Amino acid sequence: MRTLRERKLLVATHNAGKLDEMRAMFAPHGIEVVGAAEMGLGEPAETEDSFVGNARLKARAAMQATGLPVLADDSGIAVDGLDGAPGVRTADWADTPSGRDFMQAMTRTWAELDARGVPEPRTAQFRATLLLMWPDGEEAVFEGVAPGRLVWPPRGALGHGYDPMFVPDGDTRTYAEMSAAEKNRISHRARAFALLEQVLA
Ligand code: IMP
Repeated sequence: MRTLRERKLLVATHNAGKLDEMRAMFAPHGIEVVGAAEMGLGEPAETEDSFVGNARLKARAAMQATGLPVLADDSGIAVDGLDGAPGVRTADWADTPSGRDFMQAMTRTWAELDARGVPEPRTAQFRATLLLMWPDGEEAVFEGVAPGRLVWPPRGALGHGYDPMFVPDGDTRTYAEMSAAEKNRISHRARAFALLEQVLA
């Protein structure tokens, strides 16, 4: 597989937390990371119906605007008893007129499982797709999956999003009951990162 030889990479995100994570990951490889906000880029609407489609859309817009190699990501949670929903719509389920409310999204997820009579364990997977695009348009895709189950009521105050209702396989705690360092060792994003590291020169 093609290796990344460029020493400067644009990460197509406006999320400061993700940017910090990426910076830390690329630093040991001598790669400088710049974010979408510092390059004055907008946020394209995520109109595709797959993680890879949305990651590609973000990567292409950023690559065409800057001529830099770009890393873009998309992620979410797929619940088996809901045929993979909310999936690419994970963030949308939290939308309210006054901003994002993940307690609302988690409540809806559990209520829809109840409505369908889905028995426990209610299995789900967090998924992360990283897409690396070179300035000539060639791309490589890295996918990380963290299988687990949903619990109710939510537990833990750490993390973000759906963390309080997700217990990864092999543990009894939710993501929100783990330190960031612990979660980052086993998370879907960490698994995708590990694959991506293989193409760093
Ligand atoms: P995006 O990848 O920024 O589009 O995020 C999709 C949504 O997935 C986010 O709004 C989060 O709620 C959810 N999500 C992705 N990764 C995690 C995670 O590690 N914990 C909790 N929620 C997550």
